[in-house]
Amino acid sequence: MADIRKLEDVVSLCKRRGFIFQSSDIYGGLASCYDYGPLGAELKRNVKEQWWKQMVQMRDDMVGIDCSILMHPMIWKASGHVDKFADLVADCKACKTRTRLDHLQNAPGKEDADINDTSAKVCPKCGKIGNFTEPMEFKLMFETQMGANVDDSMTVYLRPETAQGIFANYRNVLDSSRMAVPFGIGQIGKSFRNEVTTKAFIFRTREFEQMEIEFFCKPGTDEKWYEHWKQLRMQWYLDLGINKDHLRFRDHASDELAHYAKACVDVEYLFPFGQGDWQELEGVANRTNYDLRQHQRGMRSVTRWIENDRDVIKTPLVDENDKWDKGPLAYFDQPNNEKYIPYVIEPSAGADRGTLAFLVDAYDEDEVNGEVRNVLRFHPKLAPVKAAVFPLVKKEGMPEKATAIYDDLKGHFNCSYDLKGAIGRRYRRQDEAGTPFCIVVDGQTNEDNTVTVRDRDSMEQVRVNADQVKSYLRDKLDL
Ligand code: ATP
Repeated sequence: MADIRKLEDVVSLCKRRGFIFQSSDIYGGLASCYDYGPLGAELKRNVKEQWWKQMVQMRDDMVGIDCSILMHPMIWKASGHVDKFADLVADCKACKTRTRLDHLQNAPGKEDADINDTSAKVCPKCGKIGNFTEPMEFKLMFETQMGANVDDSMTVYLRPETAQGIFANYRNVLDSSRMAVPFGIGQIGKSFRNEVTTKAFIFRTREFEQMEIEFFCKPGTDEKWYEHWKQLRMQWYLDLGINKDHLRFRDHASDELAHYAKACVDVEYLFPFGQGDWQELEGVANRTNYDLRQHQRGMRSVTRWIENDRDVIKTPLVDENDKWDKGPLAYFDQPNNEKYIPYVIEPSAGADRGTLAFLVDAYDEDEVNGEVRNVLRFHPKLAPVKAAVFPLVKKEGMPEKATAIYDDLKGHFNCSYDLKGAIGRRYRRQDEAGTPFCIVVDGQTNEDNTVTVRDRDSMEQVRVNADQVKSYLRDKLDL
């Protein structure tokens, strides 16, 4: 079957039906920032809820936290972001477009050129070859000032990832809960990066939401847990309905790995950008014990900060030599009477990027009575509206009966009620929103108290007793 997923179609449906709008639209828009409308807000909430349910709620070895976006600046020193979180960029001298070096393509005939050799690169905007400024570092963290008084005002950062809030709370969670290694902490929240090149709709934006896990395990068991999370994260997308032919793993080559990482794999999705484009949906990394060790170093240096020496952020962190396994973030494994800094497996997913993948994967067109039908075939767990209730016509008590059913259902599922227009049009509207079921009160309802329940995908209708609609839906939706 031909792949009919086209980004333009999805973007236009998103706008038309209120999934996603350009931010600040009435003021001409703000580049690479987006707002979720009524259907989109429900969809993204369901994506996050499914992640939380499967990754946190249903696992005995996981807990969740919710950290503030603003954190102590030394956290970003210890994590390496203050010193290294930058992209190498070059400006085209002709059209002034700034591009990330790793996003520049080599010109035809110069395919083998090194990735840093700008003489071989093509400007993606004007097409000029090798006409770039010297590569320079562009810092990705947004900075702001905190504190009203000159004395205590300081530069803080909007977090570029949620992960560091987890490391910063690892000790708190251990001390306040009954968790023992191996265990993990999950978090969903906003992150901010002043991205150089933004991309395709909500794929790469400057404000986005992440769903991240840090899973702490004993060194030596890390490879087993890495494999576990790698498989589990792929399965999560498959279970929520993504076509398996649109998903793949991509292992990072050794020269791509961060110096501290032992292994990293991306879960990639075949996005419909251009002719089809495999892009990262999520990364799963074995980060060794690097982050906790770094934070121990940060904790040592922070005394200088407390004494008002703000320059500490510019100097290397105090090294603890080889005593790090005795430090404050070391874990005491009571049964085995040993102390160590746990290794960490990090599955890091984007909620917006995931939402885009679910949207484009659900997009379908078929033909009904000679007309094209746009339909979003969402997994019922993700569908923004689970059921729509209609009276067939506005008479014979049908609206009253339909309203009563709707009022009863809406306490249990997100539902909608619609009495305007021909029934076929009302079905089409729900198909476009991805609503799995439509419930219609008709002439027969008065006689035998049954309603029709129409399935979005098969378009088949069955009669169900009005009193049993709730349990029927609960069963079918598997919520
Ligand atoms: P890239 O190389 O594409 O910039 P990254 O490898 O830096 O991404 P990570 O830091 O691993 O990304 O972030 C984990 C996840 O967070 C990504 O897989 C993605 O789903 C999401 N993410 C990261 N940056 C953005 C962004 N600017 N917009 C939307 N989602 C993002």
